[in-house]
Amino acid sequence: MIGERDWSDFQTFQQSRDYEVTDVEAYTDLARELRAAVTGEVRFDEYAQVLYATDGSIYRARPAGVVIPRDIADVQETVKLAAKHDVPVLPRGAGSSLAGQAVGPGCVVIDFSKYMNDILAFDTEGRRVTVQPGVVQDHLDGYLATEGLKFAPDPASANRATIGGGIGNNSTGAHSVRYGITDAYTEELQVVLADGSVIHTRDVVLDSDEWDAIVEKDDREAHLYETVRALVEDNAEEIERRYPKLKRSVSGYNLHKVIFERDGERVINLSKLLVGSEGTLGVVVEATLSLVTVPEETALVLFAFDDLIDAMVAVPDALDFGASAVELMDDEVFRMARESSEYAQYVEQIPDGAEATLMLEFDSELHDDFEKAISAASEHFLRDGGESERGKAFAAIEAYEDADQADIWKLRKAAIPLLMSLEGDPKPYPFIEDASVPPEELATYVQAFEDVLADHGTSAAYFAHAGSGTLHIRPILNLKQGQGIETMRSITDAITDLVLEHHGSFSGEHGDGLARTEWNPKMYGPDLWAAFKEVKSAFDPDWRLNPGKVVFRDDDPADMRKNLRYGEAYSSIEPTTTLDFEDDGGFAHLVELCNGCGTCRQIGSGTMCPTYRASRDEAETTRGRANMLRAAISGDLPEDELYSERFQTEILDLCVGCKGCKNDCPTGVDLAKLKAEVKHQYHEREGLTVRDRLFANIDTAARLGSALAPISNWASEVPGARNVMERVAGLAPERELPRFTRHTLTRWMNDRTALVSEHEATHRVLLFPDTYTNYVTPEIGKAAVRVLEAAGVHVRLATDVKPSGRAAYSMGMLDVARERAEHNVSALAPRVGDGWSVVCLEPADAVMFQDEYGDLLSGPDVATVGASVYEVMEFLDVHRIDELLPLRVGERAEGETGAQPAMVDGGTLGSLTYHGHCNQKALNRDHHAVGVLRRVGYDVDPLDSGCCGMAGSFGYEEEHYDLSKAIGRILFDQVDASPGDTVVAPGASCRTQLGDHSGQRPPHPIEKVAEALVG
Ligand SMILES: Cc1cc2nc3c(=O)[nH]c(=O)nc-3n(C[C@H](O)[C@H](O)[C@H](O)COP(=O)(O)OP(=O)(O)OC[C@H]3O[C@@H](n4cnc5c(N)ncnc54)[C@H](O)[C@@H]3O)c2cc1C
Ligand code: SF4
Ligand code: SF4
Repeated sequence: MIGERDWSDFQTFQQSRDYEVTDVEAYTDLARELRAAVTGEVRFDEYAQVLYATDGSIYRARPAGVVIPRDIADVQETVKLAAKHDVPVLPRGAGSSLAGQAVGPGCVVIDFSKYMNDILAFDTEGRRVTVQPGVVQDHLDGYLATEGLKFAPDPASANRATIGGGIGNNSTGAHSVRYGITDAYTEELQVVLADGSVIHTRDVVLDSDEWDAIVEKDDREAHLYETVRALVEDNAEEIERRYPKLKRSVSGYNLHKVIFERDGERVINLSKLLVGSEGTLGVVVEATLSLVTVPEETALVLFAFDDLIDAMVAVPDALDFGASAVELMDDEVFRMARESSEYAQYVEQIPDGAEATLMLEFDSELHDDFEKAISAASEHFLRDGGESERGKAFAAIEAYEDADQADIWKLRKAAIPLLMSLEGDPKPYPFIEDASVPPEELATYVQAFEDVLADHGTSAAYFAHAGSGTLHIRPILNLKQGQGIETMRSITDAITDLVLEHHGSFSGEHGDGLARTEWNPKMYGPDLWAAFKEVKSAFDPDWRLNPGKVVFRDDDPADMRKNLRYGEAYSSIEPTTTLDFEDDGGFAHLVELCNGCGTCRQIGSGTMCPTYRASRDEAETTRGRANMLRAAISGDLPEDELYSERFQTEILDLCVGCKGCKNDCPTGVDLAKLKAEVKHQYHEREGLTVRDRLFANIDTAARLGSALAPISNWASEVPGARNVMERVAGLAPERELPRFTRHTLTRWMNDRTALVSEHEATHRVLLFPDTYTNYVTPEIGKAAVRVLEAAGVHVRLATDVKPSGRAAYSMGMLDVARERAEHNVSALAPRVGDGWSVVCLEPADAVMFQDEYGDLLSGPDVATVGASVYEVMEFLDVHRIDELLPLRVGERAEGETGAQPAMVDGGTLGSLTYHGHCNQKALNRDHHAVGVLRRVGYDVDPLDSGCCGMAGSFGYEEEHYDLSKAIGRILFDQVDASPGDTVVAPGASCRTQLGDHSGQRPPHPIEKVAEALVG
């Protein structure tokens, strides 16, 4: 296998998890037989049902259970046993589908994403790759990029979407104008059929020897080939008449593509029919794909129009300029982006008055002179000057640099997340969001679309793949109300009429699923609809593979209003909370913000979600946790399940509270906050364990340990004493306990006089003595004082403060956290009011003041104090303190500020690998350290790393040690791959995790700044 990685820690963690789970009664026999037959995982309990009940769509229905296969034999056994028990089967990848095709009521879900995700063979010369269906497209492309190749279809969800799912949906993306869609690149498949047999689909020349050999066998495979050929030939005229002539049309079965001409011969390839069949015809277990070369360079031009329809009018001409993508954004997208802290910076470049923009991308394989191509387009599209020139753009923005292009793409891709984070119950839902029409009909189509929406009293944003005629239009509706649901159907009815009038397709991208299958007879007419049903019966005689998608039985008609995630009957409790959820629209609203998009399954960048990265379990995604919380507050799980021990152990305790989702989840589902609230309520009911108390009050233990040091340190090494601690407190025996010092930071600060007096100081700072720095690593605090004083800062210890409450908060002991927050805010508010800043060495503490205190307390002082608290590197950067430092690396010219000082002998102070703290990343405050370290003279390689896996007490807890280590392994690999000589990390937990691995405690960045000082 190609691209294998070391999963040993993760496997140990899995084996160590020995949950007692009970299969749902109706499926106990099936589950038992499956367990005996397959080597993969088998889960038929209620939790598994909830976890796999949704995808990225508006639908929800509990499956029977899930099998997570390890090999083809597992898949065959699953399909056979499901048939024996008359239970339907649903193959699944990331479950990011938007039309409900990955939701299957009563199905056995086969989840390919966890184990069957290998790249099996790569033929660089023939430009083909063979993969298992669970491989994530971005991982595949990352692998292929080493040879300058890629799989051409590029769905926006490629960072978690699997190739199997892409084949199921016939996926495509912004570059379909240039490359077409998945069916064009799917050459061969290994497919498990409904009876468990396997066929190999590939090009077969009709009436050739190969064809004869297949059909002569008179078996199931022969029947398939003959049925499909007869259906295509018998319906040739209707196929020609009914299938839209579009770059992308993914509704129905691909009868128009399964037989084609090649070098004068007629060829049948059943792969082309299986692509887009949404798992309804067979289960793909291997795929051979053709590849394209990656263009070396691209350039963009963005034309701004003062009218949406004008932009639409321009689309057909845009295609004449050889663009590889032609993408639309409208003013609604810009408006929302302006209001978003994350995206506002990207919208600044959009000219005032732009009602819509068309973005044209050019690539170096089609154009050798970008400036020439762009100026030709600009000459055509830009007005000569007259205001009233219809159909012309009034401004153009050109982007040649990668970073500038990336900013424009970021804005374009922000559209869906921005829309979905809309507050309140009315939301822009996907149900006709990817209908396609020929580009030359877009303008009249959009005009009529707007009328339909106005008639139904709603509106929508318009954006996406204008070049291929596919616009993402999501009407804003409340699907918790019967009226909203009926409006959804009525809009769909009207829009499907409109699409047909404009020679389009009901789905140009996201497939049929539960949303569109109902409408396929309208699109294809009675003859092709009958042909679809015959195809289905030939492949799946008992209609057991993902039933109700693409085709439906006459006695069980599809209805887009069934199996809705919300629906009229949906209601959720709004628990009385200790934390303030007002800004989140309430506890339930924050939970319901999860729309199932699956971004929390991406593992390539960002922070979210470390536990999934290590375990590859749906239960350990942010989505899994949000789905479980939603089920618990809406009656889908038994009353009080939320407070059951199982819910804590399996669902909440494995969230390390890194806050990654708060920032990385496109809609801002803040699981760390939700977890803290539920854990708090759980503790109120069930009380606290010895370990909970120990960690939440770690400062008391540390104070005692420090007072008794070094005896306390020896005691922790003595086997008997150590055993008692492990047994009573449930500590992992593998972890070294912190070694306390009597020479605390507090004592050192109290014994010295500040070197910079208050009146001559540039800034006045109160140093926050966090527990770890104070009792374990006071040298970090000393380094900070040295740096700050070297820059003329007056530094005092913040006295009369308590620990920030971070540990208590993370463990859901909110009363303790609140009491500390109250104390600290009232102690610090007067000083802050006098202009003092508060500086923390530990990022988690700084973030506690900056963020969580706002959820724990109300009143103006909270925000005022929060705004004056900084992590030390943040303080240096925000106030440019480093520019005042006497540095070893070079002398600044007189009056010089801001620039990096000259290097000594052309070199630097050394190279560092920087691992930031996930809590700071959640607030976008993690970049400060890198800037400072570079300016004081280091080469810095900032890792795109997530949580270290230690997460306060988590990594010390016996039952979480293996998972903690598995998460850490991802970071260790990144550190090993980094060119930096020394790894630095501001977080105490991160330094412990890294130190436990390498045997050497990494420095805090402030220590490296101190080393950069002269003298
Ligand atoms: C924010 C967002 C943006 C998106 N953007 C795009 C886009 O630009 N273009 C696009 O095309 N789609 C897009 N999608 C939809 C979806 O992400 C893609 O279609 C994606 O390729 C589906 O992959 P998946 O692994 O999630 O498949 P899943 O959702 O798990 O499955 C998709 C279908 O394939 C079937 N299937 C899965 N595995 C197999 C198998 N082994 N054998 C047979 N059938 C199988 C399933 O039964 C299901 O019917 C987007 C979704 C979201 C949430
Ligand atoms: S938690 Fe966020 S990223 Fe994950 S599926 Fe839900 S909305 Fe998407
Ligand atoms: S807080 Fe971290 S571990 Fe918990 S769900 Fe969010 S990203 Fe995952």
